[in-house]
Amino acid sequence: MKKGFTLVEMIVIIAIISILALLSAPEIMSTIESSNAQVCKDHQKAIMSEYYAKAPYTSGDILGEILVENANEICPNNGLISRIDNKLSCSKHGSYLDN
Ligand SMILES: [Zn+2]
Repeated sequence: MKKGFTLVEMIVIIAIISILALLSAPEIMSTIESSNAQVCKDHQKAIMSEYYAKAPYTSGDILGEILVENANEICPNNGLISRIDNKLSCSKHGSYLDN
């Protein structure tokens, strides 16, 4: 009695797994991108919450200080965070106010 798989059976199984991986890759990439966009917007929202909490009790450019403190943690894709009239926006994901 023969045990195990033949080479042809293994090649067929690997080919089927490769095709399934190839078909699901675009969906996985798009899910990762949409979750990164949501993380970026949530971080923008958290920074604005911190700003609105501190602003009444401090003077100076408190939003600028918060942005400098968190500069590398806002966007998971390293998008450039711009600030126009106390409104944050990411160069890759837009503003949390755009939803
Ligand atoms: Zn971003």
